[in-house]
Amino acid sequence: MPDYQIWMNENEYAFKALHIHLINASRWYPLVLLLCDVDYLSTQVKFLQKRRDRIAFERFLGDCIDAIPAEILQRKKRLVNISKQRNSFATCLEMMYCQIDSYNLHKYRDSQAICVDCGSRSMIHGHIDLPHADYHDQYFSWCQNCFWSWAKDELNSDYSFDNALWEFDYKTNMYR
Ligand SMILES: [Zn+2]
Repeated sequence: MPDYQIWMNENEYAFKALHIHLINASRWYPLVLLLCDVDYLSTQVKFLQKRRDRIAFERFLGDCIDAIPAEILQRKKRLVNISKQRNSFATCLEMMYCQIDSYNLHKYRDSQAICVDCGSRSMIHGHIDLPHADYHDQYFSWCQNCFWSWAKDELNSDYSFDNALWEFDYKTNMYR
């Protein structure tokens, strides 16, 4: 397995073109492996964030998912989950790999939470007060095993400081 971060630093052009090359060549198997690889996805989300384009990563996911023939997509639970929740999956990875400092990541792993979709204890969830937007709370929750995801942002417009934070619900793995 290559170290995608090093590869991206050394040859940004090749990294950027990889998924396009695989799509154009109809090489579905290596493309499926890439999209199921958290290291690749985390490198990609960090790379695309530098463009300051809010939906660049979601668009990247869409380009890949839409290109893969349905009968191949259906065989991989991770890809089915990405395709069902493209927007929230993109948000979850952006929060985890672009907004949270890596030494704080452990605070977002919750070994008590059980994934509603695959049953594993691989949930990562939390709430981030986005620094560039006042009164903007981003909630996110996703499973590192099956890529089930949920995300919601709450825009507080009333300028009151008594907005209670939402609570994590262990039955649904969502905040409310
Ligand atoms: Zn799961």
